[in-house]
Amino acid sequence: MNKGKLLVFSAPSGSGKTTIVRHLLAQPELNLEFSISAATREPRGQEIDGKDYYFMSIDDFKKHIKAEDFIEWEEVYRDNFYGTLKSEVERIWAQGKNVIFDIDVAGGLRIKKKFPDETLAVFVKPPSVDELKRRLKERSTESDDKINMRIAKAHVELATAPQFDVIIKNYDLDVAKQEAYELVKEFIKK
Ligand code: 5GP
Repeated sequence: MNKGKLLVFSAPSGSGKTTIVRHLLAQPELNLEFSISAATREPRGQEIDGKDYYFMSIDDFKKHIKAEDFIEWEEVYRDNFYGTLKSEVERIWAQGKNVIFDIDVAGGLRIKKKFPDETLAVFVKPPSVDELKRRLKERSTESDDKINMRIAKAHVELATAPQFDVIIKNYDLDVAKQEAYELVKEFIKK
């Protein structure tokens, strides 16, 4: 199979990486397809199974771990498992496309390690942890408890930024989108 590129976008939850990833997906010349992760949490808002995530039970997720179906997986939050299925990358590469990932920091670095030549690992940095908290509250899709859990994790995640190939500072969303576009455009040429 012809290998495409792997564009990893990782960041603390609320940094704006999902918005950036959506923006890149809307640019046909980048030839990108979103890697749909498996996840054990409940769908939020308008999320659709098989489009945003492959939602599954913890039992089913564990069966996939046992069968070694994942390229990487993480218990991102307690009892909330997320993972990238091998079949997902194969599906996208078979279409002759590049894969774009919106995944957590540990998973992103693992993909980079497994596919060093094909991967561009990008860390999206929020202006500050306070701003992150404000954005998560504004989104108001989760309880305060869950928001606090995400903030606690953000501190740990921010410390891993130097291990990524590039850091995009998301202080101004339009600037960050443009920067991401240029980076991806350049990388997929290689
Ligand atoms: P959310 O619940 O907000 O959709 O995602 C929570 C976190 O899990 C985010 O940081 C998201 O990027 C990450 N995530 C989503 N899919 C995967 C995956 O396949 N693997 C890993 N390691 N993290 C993921």
